[in-house]
Amino acid sequence: MAVRGRGLVGVDLGGTKTALALMDDRGEVVARDVFATQAADGVEAWLERAAAAARRLAPAGVRAVGVGAAGQVDPSGVLVATANVGGWRGINLGARLGERLGCPGTTDNDAKVELMAELDRGAARGCRTALLVAVGTGIGGAIALDGRVYRGAHGFAGEVGHAFVAGGDRPCGCGRAGHLETLASGTGILHSALERARGRPDGVLAEELRREPGARAVFAAARRGDADAQEVLDAAADLLGGSIAGLVTVLDPEVVVLAGGVAAADDAFWRRARRAFEGAVHPTLERTPWRPAALGEGAGAIGACLVARSLVA
Ligand SMILES: [Zn+2]
Repeated sequence: MAVRGRGLVGVDLGGTKTALALMDDRGEVVARDVFATQAADGVEAWLERAAAAARRLAPAGVRAVGVGAAGQVDPSGVLVATANVGGWRGINLGARLGERLGCPGTTDNDAKVELMAELDRGAARGCRTALLVAVGTGIGGAIALDGRVYRGAHGFAGEVGHAFVAGGDRPCGCGRAGHLETLASGTGILHSALERARGRPDGVLAEELRREPGARAVFAAARRGDADAQEVLDAAADLLGGSIAGLVTVLDPEVVVLAGGVAAADDAFWRRARRAFEGAVHPTLERTPWRPAALGEGAGAIGACLVARSLVA
């Protein structure tokens, strides 16, 4: 599966692993690779490993490189804030990688990159307007307007996890409180469940949380009929559905794409969120379709290739 001439390389930087894809000039992904991120080794070590992996993937040379990274990325591609690779702020990882590879490079936010991939060949293919909501450890998001990902004045547009919801007082990673992410992300669900379990240490929820301290334990306890777990999940689903209703009312997208680990977790959770959405959204928009992300884990690296392509197109 060789690429004639130099290919486009996309790099999806995750907290535990880094995934790469090589795209040919017809837009086909022709090779992939993955390596352990090992963020503790520092950014220079990561750049070295990523450059080596890119060279292996594209022995004929790299035309351009794109990086997708969790966190806030400013319009010039510099990572402004990030949670999963602490201390790598103030750097344009893609541009630095491009220096090593002798080609242009830049960085974009992971949810924006994922939406680019879903617009190009996934759940939002052919759409001009779309909203992506990624519910995992945190809550990310992205907006497409007129067929392109919209960035806003600070590169911040689409960061739905930091939208304020009434009733929350838990501190957010950004320093404020009451943000959607603190209540309805996997981490938010876990925190709510731990609070509940403290009051009932002999309950099914507490037992599942001891076995696996994560949001998955809450879903498992709910499946076993535990009322505390069900209430925690219902509250999170209602918040998500209501928040998406607000966003859809403002944006009027053709489709809402649901991504992330919690999005893949449980049908009943999303049916509940959908009911909350339909009950809250303006009636004109109640049929706005929700679709699961189609490209799965591979979306980040594919979208990063499209970021690279935008540099040389
Ligand atoms: Zn926040």
